[in-house]
Amino acid sequence: MASWNLWHGCHKISAGCAHCYVYRIDARHGRDSSIVTKTKDFDLPMRKNRMKEYKIPSGELVYTCFTSDFLLEDADPWREEAWRIMKIRSDLRFLFITKRIHRFAQCIPPDWGDGYDNVVVCCTAENQDRADFRLPIFRDLPIRHKSIICEPLLGPIDLSPYLGSWVEDVVVGGESGIDARLCDYAWVLDIRRQCIGHGVPFHFRQTGAYFRKDGKTYRILKKDQQAQAHKAKIDLRPRGIDKSVEAPYSQGKPASGGSTPQSPVQGTFFIDEI
Ligand code: SF4
Repeated sequence: MASWNLWHGCHKISAGCAHCYVYRIDARHGRDSSIVTKTKDFDLPMRKNRMKEYKIPSGELVYTCFTSDFLLEDADPWREEAWRIMKIRSDLRFLFITKRIHRFAQCIPPDWGDGYDNVVVCCTAENQDRADFRLPIFRDLPIRHKSIICEPLLGPIDLSPYLGSWVEDVVVGGESGIDARLCDYAWVLDIRRQCIGHGVPFHFRQTGAYFRKDGKTYRILKKDQQAQAHKAKIDLRPRGIDKSVEAPYSQGKPASGGSTPQSPVQGTFFIDEI
């Protein structure tokens, strides 16, 4: 997976933003995350090497705009050019995650039609309130590839009024970082059950740092959060795309994709019990 960070900086908009990793990491470097700037990599997909070949080779999944929100107001003057690049590089697949799906309709280019086939849009729903607001909007938008991201999962969510064949998959995960809020395995399993009921693929991406299972709570190190989720073996269908929220920025490189699917709900948890 390649990554393309067009602009940097953002504004907190909902509960899921409280411990935003962009703010967390910028704070360590004395940088103000609320100042939004274009990055030096704005035209990265268009760049070529000495052999006159694109630096991002054909066929790559490009994790797009991971230290901001692609639909942020501040980026309105730059987005048209970003869409143009995505259209020119129709040999790539671009994926972005947004908490501003309500702005989508006013942000698309004139030739969008029913969507560019090489663009995957992931809408975050971190709690019931944001699911109820964003998902009806998301469902009705002309987008060819749609995913729901329940990350950080902050409470039980009933997605069932919204799930259907329009959703390519649901990704669930807990919150990372020192101030992480609790993620309960029962919430994860409940969303999985809803996905089974609607025939929607499901991926448990990571536990987060503060996790509860069977009434016991655990602190889980960053390096173990994905591995522990993987151990649960509750994914429905193998996935070729990892819609990782944090990996490119916090670890310096994109996460690798894929998960092992299909087995009964079980797994060996955990470490460092509180
Ligand atoms: S980058 Fe995402 S989590 Fe952070 S403030 Fe923006 S919308 Fe919220």
